[in-house]
Amino acid sequence: MKDKDTFLQNAGINTRLSHIGYSPLDFHGFVNPPVVHASTVLFPNARVMETHDQKYTYGTRGTPTTDALCEAMDALEGSAGTVIVPSGLAAVTVPFLAYLSAGDHALIVDSVYGPTRFFCDTMLKRLGVEVDYYDPLAGAGIEQLFKPNTRLVHTEAPGSNTFEMQDIPAISAAAHRHGCVVTMDNTWATPLYFKPLDHGVDVSIHAVTKYPAGHSDIVMGTVSANETHWQRLLDAHGQLGICGAPDDAYQVLRGLRTMGVRLERHQESALEIARWLESREEVARVLHPALPSFPSHEIWKRDFKGSSGIFSFVLAVDRAEKFKVKAHAFLDALRIFGLGYSWGGFESLALQVNLNDRRVAKAPTEGPVIRLQIGLEDVADIKADIEKGFAAVKEV
Ligand SMILES: *Cc1c(COP(=O)(O)O)cnc(C)c1O
Repeated sequence: MKDKDTFLQNAGINTRLSHIGYSPLDFHGFVNPPVVHASTVLFPNARVMETHDQKYTYGTRGTPTTDALCEAMDALEGSAGTVIVPSGLAAVTVPFLAYLSAGDHALIVDSVYGPTRFFCDTMLKRLGVEVDYYDPLAGAGIEQLFKPNTRLVHTEAPGSNTFEMQDIPAISAAAHRHGCVVTMDNTWATPLYFKPLDHGVDVSIHAVTKYPAGHSDIVMGTVSANETHWQRLLDAHGQLGICGAPDDAYQVLRGLRTMGVRLERHQESALEIARWLESREEVARVLHPALPSFPSHEIWKRDFKGSSGIFSFVLAVDRAEKFKVKAHAFLDALRIFGLGYSWGGFESLALQVNLNDRRVAKAPTEGPVIRLQIGLEDVADIKADIEKGFAAVKEV
């Protein structure tokens, strides 16, 4: 492991992705780690059993397979430790349960992933945690929103579906002045394009369902914490018993090996299509943080190293009562794009975004918002498919 640590230290990201997390010589030289299925782990004698003085103790507490993924995520995020959970949503709810107690107040970004909001408005509320949603563009202005009992600030950048960037360093600094833990859902950028812990965040969250798994066949989440917040996260993970399965962890680690090259293609294709959409009369606005026309683009440029393959655009529709029928006409004409949730897989997906739950970051008014996940298909084919959609929009 020592040798490997040194040769990887100054290596490029694709070199690191190819080698982090597992040393082949630890398991007979096989290039990939074994998939260890386990509940029971045996102890050599009663003393070791009593003191738990060995690396593995029980299936819920990790296996060599899940450890390989955790170590890879720690290497990418620069974190003290990572826990694996069975979905991206659980990667948000487990840290919330770890750091929040009855009587606490949490600040959640208003452009948050929808099911995160649902968890806050239902279970967190029932458990006696008060939640306020704040403007994704608040930046240092978030200072005004802290209460004496505020304990956690949750960020997500760019925001789900509308892609607002957040000033993460400014928000983290304010949160720390008020003694809060800062969590960030970093799924969009992956640790390749943004490293939250380097910008003041304490806990970085991933739906590794998306780009790390990369093939729309796995749901899994990871939570990576800095030194200060690691033990409490690990304790909550153990208390809740919400662990990830070794077969899925294996597949995610497998996906990580190629994530760099896949992301490059997702980035390039999505940007080409986003720029092309900006030039189309059928489009009112493109919501992509790497476009200079995007309002919070400067923050993306300052803090992020790249952009991934998912963004939205506002279809230009003059009358609000036509939004839905035009959006449906567009979506129904698509052949390459599938209509489905999630993203980060090899295939293109589209949907009409529902922004009815927003409190502060209101929906655009110029037309319906369509979200596109640009897959690994050829750009010319993807464009032709979108043109079919535009043609259908004119017919209704
Ligand atoms: C998809 C997604 C999640 C949830 O991941 P699942 O594995 O589908 O539960 C969480 N956060 C963001 C930003 C997502 O896009």
